Amino acid sequence: MTGVSRRRLLGTGALTAAGAVAASAAAAPPAAARTAPSGTALSADVVIVGAGLAGLTAARDLIAAGRSVVVLEARDRPGGRVYGLPLGDGTTAEGGAEFIGPTQDRIAALTNEMGVATFPTYNEGDNVYYRNGRRSLYATDGLLGAVPPDWGVLDLELALLRLGRMIEDVPVGEPWKAAKADEWDSQTFHSWSRSNSLSSGARFLMDVFVSSALSARSRDVSLLYVLHYAAAAGNADNPGSIDRLINTRDGAQELRFAGGPEQVPIRLAARLGDAVRYNAPVRSIATGGHGVTVTADGVTVSAKRAVVAMSPAIAGKIDFSPGLPASRAQLMQRYPMGSVAKFVGVYDTPFWREENLTGQALADSGAIDVTFDNSPPDGSRGILMGFINHDNVRRLDSASEEAVRAAGLESFGKLFGDRAKSPVRTAMMRWDNETWSGGGPVGLAPPGVLTGFGPALREPCGPVHWAGTETSDYWTGYMDGAVRSGERVAREVDEAL
Ligand SMILES: Cc1cc2nc3c(=O)[nH]c(=O)nc-3n(C[C@H](O)[C@H](O)[C@H](O)COP(=O)(O)OP(=O)(O)OC[C@H]3O[C@@H](n4cnc5c(N)ncnc54)[C@H](O)[C@@H]3O)c2cc1C
Repeated sequence: MTGVSRRRLLGTGALTAAGAVAASAAAAPPAAARTAPSGTALSADVVIVGAGLAGLTAARDLIAAGRSVVVLEARDRPGGRVYGLPLGDGTTAEGGAEFIGPTQDRIAALTNEMGVATFPTYNEGDNVYYRNGRRSLYATDGLLGAVPPDWGVLDLELALLRLGRMIEDVPVGEPWKAAKADEWDSQTFHSWSRSNSLSSGARFLMDVFVSSALSARSRDVSLLYVLHYAAAAGNADNPGSIDRLINTRDGAQELRFAGGPEQVPIRLAARLGDAVRYNAPVRSIATGGHGVTVTADGVTVSAKRAVVAMSPAIAGKIDFSPGLPASRAQLMQRYPMGSVAKFVGVYDTPFWREENLTGQALADSGAIDVTFDNSPPDGSRGILMGFINHDNVRRLDSASEEAVRAAGLESFGKLFGDRAKSPVRTAMMRWDNETWSGGGPVGLAPPGVLTGFGPALREPCGPVHWAGTETSDYWTGYMDGAVRSGERVAREVDEAL
């Protein structure tokens, strides 16, 4: 049996016009029905490991270039870190990726191609700031934008100016080539922020920036990595910036997806039809004169080239033979995932809107440090979402579901009042416990990793190529970066074939 080629897809009608797909694919994720029967042997030009946005985009482009493709996915659904979290009443909320914003052109184009609509993130009124036991409100349409007016704000603004100048000196997608790469990669963001600010307010705000963007403590990542992440928050015409990373209006949190962002990978996977095999965790990749042999549970694929489309840490679970070059093998040992859970409370109404609140909050204590209004576009019910990040989520590792729920609701109550403590229902997605993600939202580089191992993020190892948002130049860490990486790897593989 062979992989699915463009001609076959067209012949069977699997690769149809966007409209036709949109009509049929808004339904449930593809089923275990396409699990390969045990012991299936397939061959294709290219085998792609992972049906997240990166792998699916690569498959789309390779098929369009006339190549036959098989995609092997460990889970029983496409989308990876893009997931509709069931709320227990037949509806879902964003359990993983959620927002899209300006300059995220490639996810925007794919969203459009899949016929998925977007709508503005609710952003009317004031944000909540909770620090040192005190709750205050602040508007985000002032000079400071999304930055709360803490006492340390002048100190912070000076630090941000310095960071802005450094970001300009980071080559997008190749931070290891920055003139000061060694210096910046030899310290954590924590050390830099402490040497470049005096007030506890500025320090807290820099920490919460790292927490909200990376679900990590500022001591977990190098300064160079943070500069790289911010330099990537743009496109060829608009240099990346911290403002674009943190802002809702004009920033990465500007828009949400009608029906959830998972509609994008679900519809794309539906177009690819039988090319995508679910419940097929890849255990080993063997390379040799013949190309590659990829062995997954129940299916083996022989191909000329392989694309591994996932974070470096998760790629490290695959057994490669012969072994990978040390730079790649050790990169996969040194690029850990952030730690994150999303906690969601569902209410009859978005009651905070009546109090002129956006539903967005920053807090220095409690389980949740960042919140958003995740209500449906028509506001017919209220949904609050809180991030439980880094130490906060690891601290709850062995807590019962009830204890985690209590901790989440205590945070909501502190930030939005007693009504927030009595939701109709709650739900939670713990990414750290997901075997095929191992955390989120993105892989992190501690000191020494980008300068020592960075080029191995994208450098092919013989017939094995690498994709995934971590490999992207622009918008690494985001859905846009995943799509860009899929498009880049498809060009790379097509040229190599
Ligand atoms: C909580 C959270 C919030 C986020 N918020 C946003 C946001 O608001 N906006 C935004 O743009 N991005 C956000 N992101 C990031 C975004 O989800 C990712 O950048 C993007 O989805 C990554 O896509 P990918 O294809 O590179 O990797 P993944 O989505 O991780 O895809 C990898 C795929 O490979 C599969 N896989 C792994 N190992 C194997 C194996 N051995 N064999 C076969 N298959 C395997 C996995 O199951 C998965 O489907 C968020 C992520 C999280 C977790």
